[in-house]
Amino acid sequence: MNVREHPQRPPVDWEAVRADLRGLNLISAPGQRRQLSRDFHWYSPILSAQLAHCVADLVVKVSTEEDVRQALAVAARWKLPVTVRGGGTGNYGQCVPLRGGIVLDVTPMCRVLDIAPGRIRVQAGARMHDIDLAARETSQALRMWPSTWHVATIGGFIAGGFGGIGSFRHGILRDSGNLLRARVMTVERTPRTIELAGDEIQQVHHAYGTNGVILDLEVALSPAVEWVHCTLLFPTYGGALDFGIAAQDPSLDLFLLSTVEARFAAYYTAMGRHFPADRHAVFTMVPPASMPALRALARAHGGTVSVAGTEAELLAQGLPPAYECAFNHTTLQALKADRGWTYLQLAYAQPFDPAVVQRHLSVFGDDVLQHQDFARAHGECATFGIVLVRWKGEEHLNAIVREIESQGGCQVFNPHVVTIEDGGMKTIDALQIAFKQRSDPMGLLNPGKTLGWQPHMEQEG
Ligand SMILES: Cc1cc2nc3c(=O)[nH]c(=O)nc-3n(C[C@H](O)[C@H](O)[C@H](O)COP(=O)(O)OP(=O)(O)OC[C@H]3O[C@@H](n4cnc5c(N)ncnc54)[C@H](O)[C@@H]3O)c2cc1C
Repeated sequence: MNVREHPQRPPVDWEAVRADLRGLNLISAPGQRRQLSRDFHWYSPILSAQLAHCVADLVVKVSTEEDVRQALAVAARWKLPVTVRGGGTGNYGQCVPLRGGIVLDVTPMCRVLDIAPGRIRVQAGARMHDIDLAARETSQALRMWPSTWHVATIGGFIAGGFGGIGSFRHGILRDSGNLLRARVMTVERTPRTIELAGDEIQQVHHAYGTNGVILDLEVALSPAVEWVHCTLLFPTYGGALDFGIAAQDPSLDLFLLSTVEARFAAYYTAMGRHFPADRHAVFTMVPPASMPALRALARAHGGTVSVAGTEAELLAQGLPPAYECAFNHTTLQALKADRGWTYLQLAYAQPFDPAVVQRHLSVFGDDVLQHQDFARAHGECATFGIVLVRWKGEEHLNAIVREIESQGGCQVFNPHVVTIEDGGMKTIDALQIAFKQRSDPMGLLNPGKTLGWQPHMEQEG
């Protein structure tokens, strides 16, 4: 179904709904509703056009669990779609309400509930950076976070993300031991809470909020490290990639490792002479003790250190932290200067073969700029790419996707689609759908985002 088409819904008496929601913080002003119905899907010209008309009928800002319970009970009574919203930094229209209804803004639910050695329990609307600050007061730190962590919430990261800064050291969210506990509320006339522990959390991880509203979460912490943010420069992109592969040696402790080719330099304006147009960059975050080994390895691959300092030292010099030069911040840096770009997300076959990237460099010329993020997933090395693509229309983009997937075992996670399955997951997660039958039997949560939910599954409330 075209996302702009609303299936036939019985007319809703919004005055009566508002009366049922009395006591809650409601936002009805069109401008604010529109703003709180958007996310970072504007990176995609396809999604920008497709989702332009999707706006919530009402935004409900919830501060407590009781607020959530009231809002979900009312949604069930009136059969209203509910789309949960955290920081709204998702890239695929994840929190855009395809069929209107209620947007449930959980950002006021942001309390730290408990910190103990190795773990922190927080409400789902807490921003990742704030959580890290709280953890650091106990000399601990989050294991991983998205580069959007100043805005992104932990609930949004776990419901919408996959991993990010820190995944080089700690793996991805899906890896056992990173997510410890979650409490989820169901959408029913009398909402219930369900507790999930350990790998059970996979049932709501990357489910785009289609199968329960996450209330709070417990995640693993690691001892805090004062990271050194480094930029390394290489005369060839092949040299940067070879360095990246060598740096995956388990003896080298790193938190972040991303390679960015020289043609990005024009967009990294704040870096100035530290990322000149004739050099390819590696952005990395390193414990101070790893610095001598990192320098030696860079030298062995023809690289030099152009920036090395703590985040505070870099900011004092007007330089961005390394994490704002990596992952999807690469795309953001380019789009700030030139809206003619879009992007693709890739996963490379392992062991990573840099010849695949070299082939893409020669085949695509100036239409595709290269950037790779090195990580670990399921205990193995993993290499992802977020490549910039010159926007020349959907056919051109699809031709690039076909070409990338034609050789070298490279997989494209299409960021120009709204469903979980068409994007990264490829297949329907039966466990998530089974959980949805328990947690959202009427199919009201974020409708249209999972291909696994079929109309015949909907139960009467
Ligand atoms: C520049 C940039 C860099 C990024 N880097 C990364 C990265 O490194 N790694 C990564 O994984 N992602 C990345 N992202 C994507 C996104 O920023 C992250 O996934 C982020 O964690 C989303 O958090 P959020 O609070 O903004 O979520 P939102 O965008 O608000 O929501 C994301 C999804 O989660 C659902 N959701 C939110 N809160 C809840 C809840 N309490 N219960 C149930 N469902 C909920 C929403 O309905 C939506 O489907 C990046 C995006 C941008 C624009």
